[in-house]
Amino acid sequence: MQDKFRRTLNAGETLFQQGDIGLEAYVIESGCIQIATDSADGLKELARLGADDILGEMALVGDQRRNASAIALEATTLAVITNEYLTERLNQADPMLRHLLRVTTSRYRSALQHRDGASESASASNVALEEPDRQIALDRLRREQDIERALSQNEFRLYYQPIVRMRDGSIAGFEALIRWEKPGVGLIPPLDFIGIAEQSGLIVQLGHWIIQTACADIQQLEAAQRSAAPDSPPLFVTINLSIRQFADPDLFNIISKNLRNQALAAHRVKLEVTESMVMGDVDAALHLIERCKALGTKIAVDDFGTGYSSLAYLHKFPMDTLKLDRSFIKDIHENAASIKIIRAISHLATELGMDTVCEGIETAEQAQTCRSIGITYAQGFHYSPAVPVARATEFLAAHTAQT
Ligand code: C2E
Ligand code: CA
Ligand code: CA
Repeated sequence: MQDKFRRTLNAGETLFQQGDIGLEAYVIESGCIQIATDSADGLKELARLGADDILGEMALVGDQRRNASAIALEATTLAVITNEYLTERLNQADPMLRHLLRVTTSRYRSALQHRDGASESASASNVALEEPDRQIALDRLRREQDIERALSQNEFRLYYQPIVRMRDGSIAGFEALIRWEKPGVGLIPPLDFIGIAEQSGLIVQLGHWIIQTACADIQQLEAAQRSAAPDSPPLFVTINLSIRQFADPDLFNIISKNLRNQALAAHRVKLEVTESMVMGDVDAALHLIERCKALGTKIAVDDFGTGYSSLAYLHKFPMDTLKLDRSFIKDIHENAASIKIIRAISHLATELGMDTVCEGIETAEQAQTCRSIGITYAQGFHYSPAVPVARATEFLAAHTAQT
Protein backbone atom coordinates (compact mmCIF):
# COMPACT_ATOMS: atom_id res chain seq x y z
CA MET A 1 0.00 0.00 0.00
CA GLN A 2 1.21 3.52 -0.88
CA ASP A 3 2.11 5.46 2.28
CA LYS A 4 0.98 9.09 2.12
CA PHE A 5 3.75 10.10 4.50
CA ARG A 6 6.67 8.12 3.00
CA ARG A 7 8.25 7.98 -0.49
CA THR A 8 10.98 5.70 -1.79
CA LEU A 9 13.00 6.47 -4.93
CA ASN A 10 15.42 4.37 -6.95
CA ALA A 11 18.81 5.74 -8.03
CA GLY A 12 18.31 8.13 -10.96
CA GLU A 13 14.59 8.68 -10.26
CA THR A 14 13.32 12.28 -10.32
CA LEU A 15 11.38 13.47 -7.25
CA PHE A 16 10.24 16.71 -8.89
CA GLN A 17 11.23 18.94 -11.73
CA GLN A 18 11.92 22.64 -11.88
CA GLY A 19 8.65 24.46 -12.68
CA ASP A 20 6.42 21.68 -11.31
CA ILE A 21 3.67 22.61 -8.89
CA GLY A 22 4.86 21.44 -5.48
CA LEU A 23 2.43 20.36 -2.78
CA GLU A 24 4.85 18.49 -0.53
CA ALA A 25 8.13 19.01 1.29
CA TYR A 26 10.39 16.13 2.31
CA VAL A 27 12.79 15.05 5.02
CA ILE A 28 15.44 12.62 3.78
CA GLU A 29 15.49 9.54 5.98
CA SER A 30 18.22 7.73 4.03
CA GLY A 31 19.93 8.11 0.65
CA CYS A 32 21.03 11.15 -1.33
CA ILE A 33 19.22 13.76 -3.41
CA GLN A 34 20.75 16.09 -5.95
CA ILE A 35 19.22 19.58 -6.31
CA ALA A 36 19.88 21.03 -9.75
CA THR A 37 18.58 23.77 -12.04
CA ASP A 38 18.34 23.90 -15.82
CA SER A 39 21.07 25.95 -17.46
CA ALA A 40 22.31 26.52 -20.99
CA ASP A 41 24.87 23.74 -20.44
CA GLY A 42 22.34 21.26 -19.10
CA LEU A 43 21.66 20.52 -15.44
CA LYS A 44 23.68 22.55 -12.94
CA GLU A 45 24.04 20.96 -9.49
CA LEU A 46 23.24 23.32 -6.61
CA ALA A 47 23.49 20.90 -3.70
CA ARG A 48 23.58 17.29 -2.57
CA LEU A 49 21.38 16.53 0.38
CA GLY A 50 21.54 13.55 2.72
CA ALA A 51 19.86 12.09 5.80
CA ASP A 52 17.85 14.62 7.91
CA ASP A 53 18.03 17.35 5.26
CA ILE A 54 14.78 19.04 4.24
CA LEU A 55 13.88 19.83 0.66
CA GLY A 56 10.95 21.17 -1.31
CA GLU A 57 9.76 23.46 1.51
CA MET A 58 10.08 26.64 -0.54
CA ALA A 59 7.20 25.74 -2.84
CA LEU A 60 4.94 25.15 0.16
CA VAL A 61 5.47 28.55 1.72
CA GLY A 62 5.88 30.39 -1.59
CA ASP A 63 4.04 30.23 -4.90
CA GLN A 64 4.11 26.42 -5.16
CA ARG A 65 6.50 26.36 -8.19
CA ARG A 66 9.59 24.22 -7.81
CA ASN A 67 12.58 26.43 -8.55
CA ALA A 68 14.93 23.47 -8.97
CA SER A 69 14.75 19.76 -9.77
CA ALA A 70 15.39 16.98 -7.25
CA ILE A 71 16.88 13.66 -8.39
CA ALA A 72 17.79 10.63 -6.28
CA LEU A 73 21.47 9.73 -6.68
CA GLU A 74 20.95 6.44 -4.86
CA ALA A 75 18.07 4.49 -3.35
CA THR A 76 16.41 7.10 -1.12
CA THR A 77 13.63 7.13 1.49
CA LEU A 78 11.77 10.33 2.32
CA ALA A 79 9.27 11.38 4.97
CA VAL A 80 6.57 13.52 3.31
CA ILE A 81 5.33 16.80 4.80
CA THR A 82 2.06 17.50 3.06
CA ASN A 83 0.75 20.92 2.16
CA GLU A 84 -2.30 20.37 4.40
CA TYR A 85 -0.08 19.55 7.38
CA LEU A 86 2.11 22.58 6.85
CA THR A 87 -0.84 24.90 6.18
CA GLU A 88 -2.49 23.76 9.38
CA ARG A 89 0.70 24.41 11.34
CA LEU A 90 1.23 27.76 9.68
CA ASN A 91 -2.33 28.79 10.40
CA GLN A 92 -1.73 28.12 14.07
CA ALA A 93 1.35 30.33 14.02
CA ASP A 94 1.41 34.00 14.88
CA PRO A 95 0.37 36.01 11.77
CA MET A 96 3.53 38.10 12.02
CA LEU A 97 5.74 35.00 12.07
CA ARG A 98 3.83 33.64 9.09
CA HIS A 99 4.24 36.89 7.26
CA LEU A 100 7.97 37.11 8.03
CA LEU A 101 8.46 33.54 6.85
CA ARG A 102 6.75 34.31 3.55
CA VAL A 103 8.69 37.53 3.04
CA THR A 104 11.98 35.82 3.81
CA THR A 105 11.19 32.95 1.46
CA SER A 106 10.12 35.36 -1.23
CA ARG A 107 13.34 37.37 -0.91
CA TYR A 108 15.44 34.21 -0.95
CA ARG A 109 13.60 32.93 -4.00
CA SER A 110 13.99 36.23 -5.76
CA ALA A 111 17.74 36.23 -4.98
CA LEU A 112 18.04 32.72 -6.42
CA GLN A 113 16.19 33.74 -9.55
CA HIS A 114 18.39 36.76 -9.92
CA ARG A 115 21.46 34.63 -9.59
CA ASP A 116 20.10 32.11 -12.11
CA GLY A 117 18.91 34.85 -14.48
CA ALA A 118 15.27 33.76 -14.27
CA SER A 119 12.33 36.16 -14.65
CA GLU A 120 10.94 38.18 -11.72
CA SER A 121 7.38 37.06 -12.35
CA ALA A 122 7.47 34.30 -9.74
CA SER A 123 8.43 36.67 -6.94
CA ALA A 124 5.79 39.16 -8.08
CA SER A 125 3.13 36.48 -7.73
CA ASN A 126 4.51 35.68 -4.25
CA VAL A 127 3.73 39.17 -3.11
CA ALA A 128 0.14 38.78 -4.28
CA LEU A 129 -0.14 35.51 -2.34
CA GLU A 130 1.19 37.12 0.80
CA GLU A 131 -1.31 39.95 0.78
CA PRO A 132 -4.03 38.59 3.17
CA ASP A 133 -1.42 37.49 5.71
CA ARG A 134 0.44 40.74 5.32
CA GLN A 135 -2.77 42.65 6.03
CA ILE A 136 -3.62 40.56 9.08
CA ALA A 137 -0.08 40.77 10.45
CA LEU A 138 0.26 44.50 9.89
CA ASP A 139 -3.22 45.19 11.22
CA ARG A 140 -2.40 43.31 14.42
CA LEU A 141 0.98 44.97 14.74
CA ARG A 142 -0.66 48.39 14.40
CA ARG A 143 -3.31 47.54 16.98
CA GLU A 144 -0.65 46.31 19.40
CA GLN A 145 1.42 49.44 18.89
CA ASP A 146 -1.74 51.49 19.37
CA ILE A 147 -2.31 49.89 22.77
CA GLU A 148 1.32 50.37 23.74
CA ARG A 149 1.10 54.04 22.77
CA ALA A 150 -2.23 54.40 24.62
CA LEU A 151 -0.56 53.06 27.76
CA SER A 152 2.27 55.56 27.57
CA GLN A 153 -0.16 58.39 26.77
CA ASN A 154 -2.46 57.50 29.69
CA GLU A 155 -5.49 56.90 27.51
CA PHE A 156 -6.91 54.08 29.62
CA ARG A 157 -9.57 54.81 32.22
CA LEU A 158 -10.99 52.68 34.98
CA TYR A 159 -14.74 52.94 35.39
CA TYR A 160 -16.55 51.69 38.46
CA GLN A 161 -19.83 49.84 38.71
CA PRO A 162 -21.40 49.74 42.18
CA ILE A 163 -22.04 46.38 43.83
CA VAL A 164 -25.08 46.57 46.06
CA ARG A 165 -25.69 44.59 49.25
CA MET A 166 -29.07 42.90 48.71
CA ARG A 167 -29.85 42.74 52.41
CA ASP A 168 -30.16 46.51 52.88
CA GLY A 169 -29.49 48.12 49.49
CA SER A 170 -26.22 49.73 50.65
CA ILE A 171 -23.15 49.89 48.44
CA ALA A 172 -20.65 47.19 49.34
CA GLY A 173 -18.01 47.85 46.70
CA PHE A 174 -17.25 48.53 43.05
CA GLU A 175 -16.09 46.51 40.07
CA ALA A 176 -13.28 48.18 38.13
CA LEU A 177 -13.98 47.99 34.38
CA ILE A 178 -11.48 49.32 31.89
CA ARG A 179 -12.20 51.72 29.00
CA TRP A 180 -9.94 53.22 26.37
CA GLU A 181 -10.52 56.91 25.76
CA LYS A 182 -8.97 57.20 22.33
CA PRO A 183 -8.53 60.77 21.06
CA GLY A 184 -10.74 61.41 18.05
CA VAL A 185 -12.53 58.08 18.48
CA GLY A 186 -14.14 58.15 21.92
CA LEU A 187 -14.64 55.48 24.52
CA ILE A 188 -13.65 52.00 23.37
CA PRO A 189 -15.13 49.05 25.34
CA PRO A 190 -12.76 46.42 26.78
CA LEU A 191 -13.90 43.58 24.56
CA ASP A 192 -12.51 45.52 21.57
CA PHE A 193 -8.94 45.60 22.90
CA ILE A 194 -8.44 43.18 25.80
CA GLY A 195 -7.99 40.26 23.36
CA ILE A 196 -5.16 42.03 21.48
CA ALA A 197 -3.60 43.12 24.78
CA GLU A 198 -3.66 39.48 25.89
CA GLN A 199 -2.20 38.07 22.68
CA SER A 200 0.60 40.61 22.64
CA GLY A 201 1.41 40.28 26.33
CA LEU A 202 0.64 43.99 26.90
CA ILE A 203 -2.07 42.88 29.34
CA VAL A 204 0.71 42.32 31.86
CA GLN A 205 1.74 45.99 31.87
CA LEU A 206 -1.89 47.09 31.55
CA GLY A 207 -2.76 44.78 34.46
CA HIS A 208 -0.20 46.52 36.68
CA TRP A 209 -1.74 49.88 35.84
CA ILE A 210 -5.24 48.52 36.57
CA ILE A 211 -4.18 47.24 40.01
CA GLN A 212 -2.41 50.46 40.91
CA THR A 213 -5.32 52.63 39.77
CA ALA A 214 -8.04 50.49 41.35
CA CYS A 215 -6.23 50.43 44.73
CA ALA A 216 -5.84 54.21 44.70
CA ASP A 217 -9.41 54.87 43.53
CA ILE A 218 -11.08 52.64 46.08
CA GLN A 219 -9.42 54.69 48.83
CA GLN A 220 -10.83 57.84 47.26
CA LEU A 221 -14.29 56.24 47.14
CA GLU A 222 -13.86 55.03 50.70
CA ALA A 223 -13.10 58.58 51.87
CA ALA A 224 -16.37 59.76 50.27
CA GLN A 225 -18.25 56.90 51.91
CA ARG A 226 -16.69 57.69 55.32
CA SER A 227 -17.82 61.28 55.24
CA ALA A 228 -21.37 60.33 54.18
CA ALA A 229 -21.76 57.32 56.46
CA PRO A 230 -18.96 56.99 59.04
CA ASP A 231 -20.23 53.66 60.40
CA SER A 232 -20.61 51.78 57.13
CA PRO A 233 -18.33 48.80 56.49
CA PRO A 234 -15.31 49.54 54.25
CA LEU A 235 -15.83 49.33 50.49
CA PHE A 236 -14.14 46.63 48.42
CA VAL A 237 -12.96 46.80 44.81
CA THR A 238 -13.06 43.90 42.37
CA ILE A 239 -10.39 43.64 39.68
CA ASN A 240 -10.71 41.47 36.58
CA LEU A 241 -7.70 39.33 35.75
CA SER A 242 -6.90 37.72 32.43
CA ILE A 243 -5.33 34.28 31.97
CA ARG A 244 -2.06 35.71 30.73
CA GLN A 245 -1.58 37.45 34.08
CA PHE A 246 -1.32 34.12 35.91
CA ALA A 247 2.09 33.74 34.33
CA ASP A 248 3.18 37.28 35.27
CA PRO A 249 5.99 36.80 37.83
CA ASP A 250 5.51 40.37 39.13
CA LEU A 251 1.74 40.27 39.62
CA PHE A 252 1.78 39.14 43.23
CA ASN A 253 4.39 41.77 44.18
CA ILE A 254 2.45 44.49 42.38
CA ILE A 255 -0.67 43.60 44.33
CA SER A 256 1.08 43.55 47.71
CA LYS A 257 3.05 46.72 46.94
CA ASN A 258 -0.12 48.65 46.05
CA LEU A 259 -1.95 47.39 49.13
CA ARG A 260 0.95 48.70 51.21
CA ASN A 261 1.21 52.01 49.36
CA GLN A 262 -2.49 52.71 49.78
CA ALA A 263 -2.70 51.30 53.32
CA LEU A 264 -5.48 49.12 51.94
CA ALA A 265 -6.51 46.00 53.87
CA ALA A 266 -6.03 42.99 51.57
CA HIS A 267 -9.58 41.69 52.09
CA ARG A 268 -10.89 44.86 50.41
CA VAL A 269 -9.48 43.70 47.07
CA LYS A 270 -11.26 40.92 45.23
CA LEU A 271 -9.72 39.37 42.13
CA GLU A 272 -12.14 38.10 39.49
CA VAL A 273 -11.19 35.05 37.47
CA THR A 274 -13.35 32.93 35.16
CA GLU A 275 -13.76 29.17 35.22
CA SER A 276 -12.17 28.82 31.80
CA MET A 277 -9.14 30.86 32.89
CA VAL A 278 -8.65 28.63 35.90
CA MET A 279 -9.14 25.42 33.92
CA GLY A 280 -6.91 26.76 31.12
CA ASP A 281 -3.84 26.94 33.35
CA VAL A 282 -4.67 25.14 36.58
CA ASP A 283 -1.15 25.13 38.07
CA ALA A 284 -0.42 28.80 37.41
CA ALA A 285 -3.93 29.76 38.62
CA LEU A 286 -3.60 27.75 41.80
CA HIS A 287 -0.14 29.16 42.52
CA LEU A 288 -1.26 32.78 42.19
CA ILE A 289 -4.62 32.31 43.91
CA GLU A 290 -3.08 30.57 46.91
CA ARG A 291 -0.46 33.31 47.34
CA CYS A 292 -3.09 36.04 47.05
CA LYS A 293 -5.35 34.25 49.50
CA ALA A 294 -2.46 33.96 51.95
CA LEU A 295 -2.03 37.71 51.61
CA GLY A 296 -5.71 38.15 52.45
CA THR A 297 -7.25 39.20 49.12
CA LYS A 298 -10.55 37.69 48.07
CA ILE A 299 -11.21 35.66 44.91
CA ALA A 300 -14.41 35.62 42.85
CA VAL A 301 -15.41 33.27 40.04
CA ASP A 302 -16.74 35.51 37.27
CA ASP A 303 -19.38 34.46 34.72
CA PHE A 304 -20.12 31.38 36.84
CA GLY A 305 -22.18 28.80 34.98
CA THR A 306 -20.97 29.64 31.47
CA GLY A 307 -17.56 27.95 31.34
CA TYR A 308 -16.59 24.41 32.15
CA SER A 309 -18.96 24.42 35.11
CA SER A 310 -16.82 21.72 36.56
CA LEU A 311 -17.62 21.93 40.22
CA ALA A 312 -14.56 19.88 41.08
CA TYR A 313 -12.29 22.91 41.21
CA LEU A 314 -14.47 24.73 43.71
CA HIS A 315 -13.14 22.77 46.65
CA LYS A 316 -9.62 22.74 45.23
CA PHE A 317 -9.48 26.52 44.85
CA PRO A 318 -10.11 28.74 47.85
CA MET A 319 -12.78 30.93 46.24
CA ASP A 320 -14.87 33.45 48.18
CA THR A 321 -17.54 34.52 45.72
CA LEU A 322 -19.58 33.06 42.89
CA LYS A 323 -20.65 35.65 40.38
CA LEU A 324 -23.63 34.38 38.44
CA ASP A 325 -23.51 35.13 34.77
CA ARG A 326 -25.85 37.72 33.33
CA SER A 327 -27.49 35.16 31.03
CA PHE A 328 -29.30 33.54 33.99
CA ILE A 329 -30.64 36.88 35.19
CA LYS A 330 -31.67 38.04 31.71
CA ASP A 331 -34.50 35.56 31.33
CA ILE A 332 -35.21 35.01 35.00
CA HIS A 333 -38.88 35.83 34.48
CA GLU A 334 -39.37 34.00 31.19
CA ASN A 335 -37.47 30.84 31.88
CA ALA A 336 -38.42 28.86 34.98
CA ALA A 337 -35.15 26.93 34.76
CA SER A 338 -33.12 30.13 35.28
CA ILE A 339 -34.63 30.77 38.71
CA LYS A 340 -33.98 27.17 39.66
CA ILE A 341 -30.35 27.45 38.53
CA ILE A 342 -29.86 30.68 40.48
CA ARG A 343 -31.43 29.11 43.55
CA ALA A 344 -29.26 25.99 43.23
CA ILE A 345 -26.07 28.04 42.80
CA SER A 346 -27.00 30.23 45.76
CA HIS A 347 -27.56 27.11 47.85
CA LEU A 348 -24.27 25.58 46.69
CA ALA A 349 -22.39 28.78 47.53
CA THR A 350 -23.90 28.92 51.02
CA GLU A 351 -22.94 25.31 51.63
CA LEU A 352 -19.38 26.05 50.55
CA GLY A 353 -19.19 29.20 52.67
CA MET A 354 -19.12 31.54 49.67
CA ASP A 355 -21.18 34.60 48.90
CA THR A 356 -22.95 35.31 45.60
CA VAL A 357 -23.31 38.20 43.16
CA CYS A 358 -25.96 38.48 40.47
CA GLU A 359 -24.70 40.69 37.67
CA GLY A 360 -26.68 42.28 34.86
CA ILE A 361 -29.65 43.29 37.04
CA GLU A 362 -31.63 45.68 34.86
CA THR A 363 -35.04 45.82 36.53
CA ALA A 364 -36.53 46.14 40.02
CA GLU A 365 -38.28 42.77 39.51
CA GLN A 366 -35.01 41.01 38.78
CA ALA A 367 -33.50 42.61 41.89
CA GLN A 368 -36.47 41.53 44.00
CA THR A 369 -36.29 37.93 42.75
CA CYS A 370 -32.55 37.70 43.46
CA ARG A 371 -33.09 39.15 46.93
CA SER A 372 -35.86 36.64 47.69
CA ILE A 373 -33.56 33.79 46.64
CA GLY A 374 -30.95 34.98 49.13
CA ILE A 375 -28.28 36.32 46.75
CA THR A 376 -25.70 38.38 48.67
CA TYR A 377 -24.85 41.17 46.19
CA ALA A 378 -26.27 42.65 42.99
CA GLN A 379 -24.80 44.66 40.18
CA GLY A 380 -26.34 46.04 37.00
CA PHE A 381 -27.78 48.96 35.05
CA HIS A 382 -30.79 48.96 37.44
CA TYR A 383 -28.42 50.51 39.99
CA SER A 384 -25.81 52.13 37.78
CA PRO A 385 -23.60 51.41 34.78
CA ALA A 386 -19.83 51.64 35.26
CA VAL A 387 -18.90 55.33 35.64
CA PRO A 388 -15.68 57.36 36.14
CA VAL A 389 -14.44 57.56 39.72
CA ALA A 390 -15.69 61.15 40.18
CA ARG A 391 -19.22 60.08 39.18
CA ALA A 392 -18.97 56.99 41.37
CA THR A 393 -18.09 59.27 44.30
CA GLU A 394 -21.20 61.39 43.67
CA PHE A 395 -23.32 58.27 43.26
CA LEU A 396 -22.04 56.97 46.57
CA ALA A 397 -22.91 60.19 48.42
CA ALA A 398 -26.41 60.34 46.88
CA HIS A 399 -27.07 56.65 47.45
CA THR A 400 -25.82 56.72 51.05
CA ALA A 401 -28.09 59.69 51.79
CA GLN A 402 -31.08 57.65 50.51
CA THR A 403 -30.44 54.46 52.45
P1 C2E B 1 -17.35 41.18 33.00
O1 C2E B 1 -16.22 41.10 33.96
O2 C2E B 1 -18.35 40.08 33.02
O3 C2E B 1 -18.02 42.59 33.24
C1 C2E B 1 -19.40 42.81 33.21
C2 C2E B 1 -19.81 43.51 31.96
O4 C2E B 1 -21.22 43.65 31.93
C3 C2E B 1 -19.26 44.92 31.86
O5 C2E B 1 -19.03 45.18 30.48
C4 C2E B 1 -20.41 45.77 32.36
O6 C2E B 1 -20.40 47.10 31.90
C5 C2E B 1 -21.58 45.01 31.77
N1 C2E B 1 -22.80 45.22 32.53
C6 C2E B 1 -22.91 45.53 33.83
N2 C2E B 1 -24.20 45.62 34.19
C7 C2E B 1 -24.94 45.33 33.11
C8 C2E B 1 -26.34 45.25 32.84
O7 C2E B 1 -27.20 45.46 33.70
N3 C2E B 1 -26.72 44.91 31.58
C9 C2E B 1 -25.83 44.67 30.61
N4 C2E B 1 -26.27 44.36 29.40
N5 C2E B 1 -24.49 44.74 30.81
C10 C2E B 1 -24.04 45.06 32.05
P2 C2E B 1 -17.69 45.83 30.00
O8 C2E B 1 -17.26 46.90 30.95
O9 C2E B 1 -17.89 46.16 28.56
O10 C2E B 1 -16.66 44.65 30.16
C11 C2E B 1 -16.74 43.52 29.35
C12 C2E B 1 -15.71 42.50 29.77
O11 C2E B 1 -14.38 42.98 29.54
C13 C2E B 1 -15.75 42.18 31.25
O12 C2E B 1 -16.77 41.28 31.50
C14 C2E B 1 -14.38 41.60 31.45
O13 C2E B 1 -14.34 40.26 31.02
C15 C2E B 1 -13.53 42.44 30.51
N6 C2E B 1 -12.88 43.49 31.29
C16 C2E B 1 -13.37 44.69 31.67
N7 C2E B 1 -12.46 45.38 32.38
C17 C2E B 1 -11.38 44.58 32.49
C18 C2E B 1 -10.10 44.71 33.12
O14 C2E B 1 -9.78 45.69 33.79
N8 C2E B 1 -9.23 43.64 32.98
C19 C2E B 1 -9.54 42.52 32.30
N9 C2E B 1 -8.64 41.53 32.21
N10 C2E B 1 -10.74 42.37 31.69
C20 C2E B 1 -11.63 43.38 31.78
CA1 CA C 1 -15.97 40.79 36.04
CA1 CA D 1 -19.11 38.73 34.53
